[in-house]
Amino acid sequence: MNRKDAVALDRKDVFAKKRNAFSIPKGMIYLDGNSLGVLPKAAVARVKHAVEVEWGRDLITSWNKHGWFHLPQVIGDKIAKLIGGVPGSVIVADTISVNLFKVLSAAVAKRRGRKVILSDSGNFPSDLYVAQGLTQFMADGHVLKVVEPDQVLQSINEDVAVVMVTEVDYRTSHRHDMKAITAKAHENGALMIWDLAHSAGSVPGRLMDVDADFAVGCTYKYLNGGPGAPAFAFVHPRLQKEVMPALVGWWGHAKPFAFAQQFAGAENVTRFQVGTQPMLNMVALDAAMDVWKGVSMEKLHAKAMKQCALFAKLAEERCGKFGISVHGEQDWSQRGSHVCLAHDESYAIMQALISRKVIGDFRAPNLMRFGFTPLYVSYADVYDAVEHLHQVLSKRLWDKPKFKAKAAVT
Ligand SMILES: *Cc1c(COP(=O)(O)O)cnc(C)c1O
Repeated sequence: MNRKDAVALDRKDVFAKKRNAFSIPKGMIYLDGNSLGVLPKAAVARVKHAVEVEWGRDLITSWNKHGWFHLPQVIGDKIAKLIGGVPGSVIVADTISVNLFKVLSAAVAKRRGRKVILSDSGNFPSDLYVAQGLTQFMADGHVLKVVEPDQVLQSINEDVAVVMVTEVDYRTSHRHDMKAITAKAHENGALMIWDLAHSAGSVPGRLMDVDADFAVGCTYKYLNGGPGAPAFAFVHPRLQKEVMPALVGWWGHAKPFAFAQQFAGAENVTRFQVGTQPMLNMVALDAAMDVWKGVSMEKLHAKAMKQCALFAKLAEERCGKFGISVHGEQDWSQRGSHVCLAHDESYAIMQALISRKVIGDFRAPNLMRFGFTPLYVSYADVYDAVEHLHQVLSKRLWDKPKFKAKAAVT
């Protein structure tokens, strides 16, 4: 593979035109869409309108006039299409951590009598913190049991109330078998929560297909909703009237504008909404979701896997001699859309890459993480990123104090 071959792949790429829908800084190779997706051009005009006309001119009438109030459900239906949900199964609200608290508390209450919440050590720390916070608060013998990622399936038994797993591991990129784990949970009478943070907009969604009970996910990664964009929660239609989160508020009330003293949850997924939603973020996300019209998730994921495999192969071939190795899942049929490279100097190497406008991120203890977002990453980008990495390593360009000083966000 040389650069010409990469350019030839771009010419045949069905997603090549989608790149025009995004505002990508000139000369930048952006391989961090798994942490913060790039700006969709349509979001600029949409947010401008929301600020100047909706907020600036129409003010409070915009809740009705510009459909603000129903955006959490409207956008939820757009997200449902990508994650394998059905209309009315997804609400957009809050953050993953907050939504996880809501669905986890609802699930635990539904399985009263059972005391184990099962998760794995590859899960994102915040997910584990939420479960720790909830068990400590309940102080009634509930425990969070954390096993190795490959032990999840065999650890599900009839003591387990809830299995809580992130489909795609944020470091190894390993993809859990949603169907097998959900089926085992149900066979044992447990409820199943999936975190789709690194799945939504990256891998074909299968929530209804695998019969998931709950799911959460964020929209600022592969869905390009912008910094702090609200997250989503999926609740299977069969459970929506039967489960109640510990955190409720007036936006989840069946009749919020009746201002009743007693809480009565909406008879659908809306009860997982709590309070007033951030409308400027919400409209940006709504515009970002429209970019997904007509996108085949199967084709998108196939391109991502091809890019990941190409990147890993080139990085190993060209940079292995400088101590670079590919970390994590090597079976390309079982992974998400990012690749981690391990090196003892990963932090400084990533800073040197960033100074050359090749953007990825660092994940402790020693990983450089690169995300492949086929809507706007080209094969030439993949090739060029490895070329930059090769230069940074072969000339030891990373070996400078300014690249070693750690910033607050890595
Ligand atoms: C990114 C990510 C989160 C982020 O949670 P927020 O509360 O939205 O900040 C949670 N879980 C996983 C698995 C993630 O990758």
